[in-house]
Amino acid sequence: MSEKNFHIVTFGCQMNVHDSQWLARALTARGFTETPLEEARVVVVNTCSVREKPEQKVMSALGRIRQVTGGDPGVLVAVAGCVAQQVGAAFFERENQVRLVAGSDGISGAPEAIERLLAEPDLRLSLLDFTSHYVEREAGAEGPCGPVAYVNIMQGCDNFCAYCIVPFTRGRQKSRATPAIMAECRARLNHGAREITLLGQNVNAFGRDKSGDGVSFARLLAQVAALPGLERLRFVTPHPKDMGPEDIAAFAELAPLCPRLHLPLQAGSDAVLRRMRRKYDRRGFLDLVAALRAARPELALSTDLIVGFPGESEDDFQATLEMMEACDFMSSFSFCYS
Ligand code: SF4
Repeated sequence: MSEKNFHIVTFGCQMNVHDSQWLARALTARGFTETPLEEARVVVVNTCSVREKPEQKVMSALGRIRQVTGGDPGVLVAVAGCVAQQVGAAFFERENQVRLVAGSDGISGAPEAIERLLAEPDLRLSLLDFTSHYVEREAGAEGPCGPVAYVNIMQGCDNFCAYCIVPFTRGRQKSRATPAIMAECRARLNHGAREITLLGQNVNAFGRDKSGDGVSFARLLAQVAALPGLERLRFVTPHPKDMGPEDIAAFAELAPLCPRLHLPLQAGSDAVLRRMRRKYDRRGFLDLVAALRAARPELALSTDLIVGFPGESEDDFQATLEMMEACDFMSSFSFCYS
C-alpha cells in the first residue's frame, strides 16, 4: 500500500467541501492518490463546529479511523478546519495517530506539512495561526472539474452574531484579490465548468476589509458574469444587512445570475434579531425582499431560521412564522438553538 494513498473525511458546509476538494487536488498534484479509507496511509478529517456536538463527531470519526486502520501508527491522521482551530494541539494527546492539526487558515499549508510529516515520522505539526490576509493556495485551479465549480472569494467574518462561532474559528474577514478570483474562474471554465458559485461566510461584504483591492461585490459579480462560457452564476452566503442597491440591481442586469438566493433571516422578531446582533429588522428585511423581487420577479428565496434562541417568547416565534409567510420562502433550514 503506497505511503501516498490518502482519504479525506469532510463535515459541514459548502466552504468545507470546497476546502476538501482543493486539498485533494493539491495532494494529487504532489503525486498522492485518493483511495477508500481502508487503503489510505494519510487520512484528513476536515471538521465543522457550527452544529451540535462537533468535538464528539470528530472523536467518533477518529475512532472509526483507528478501527479501520487497526491503530497503525504508520497511518498519518490530520485534523483540519474549525474544530482543529478550537481544540488545537490537544488532539495530539487525545489520539496518537493524529500528527497534524491545521486550523482554518493553516489548511493552506497542509499539503507541504503532510509531505514533511511523511519524511519525519517522529514529528507532529500544528498550523493554527490566523493570517492577516487571504492566503492563495497552490494548485487551486488545476485539474478537471465537473459542470459546477465553487470559487472562494473571502475567508472569515467580522459580524460576531451572538450565536455564531465562525469569527473565532475562521478568523476576521479577509477578501481574496480580484485577479486571483478571476484567474480561478477562467481556469474552472476552461476545465469544463459552466456554473460558478462564489463562496464566502459573508460573501456580499467582499472587498470591505483591509485585504480588499477596491473592487465591490457587485463589480466582481459583473466581471465574473461577463466571462465567456459561463452559463450560471450564484453566490452563498450573503448577509441581509450588506445587500446594497448595486447587489440588488445585479439580479435585474446580469443574465447568468440565477433567480435564486439564500437569504438568512434567522428570526422574525425585532427583539430577538437585536439580541442576535443581526443588524437588520423586520421592516428592513421585508423591504429588501420586495426590492429583490422587483428586480427579478421570479426570484426564489430560501432562508435559515433558529428556533428557541434564549429569551424567545411565543409571540417572538409567531413573528417568525408571520415573516415566513410574508417572504414566501421556497424552503428554510430550521434549527433548534444549541
Ligand atoms: S454573519 Fe454569518 S458567519 Fe458571520 S457571525 Fe453572523 S452568522 Fe456567523
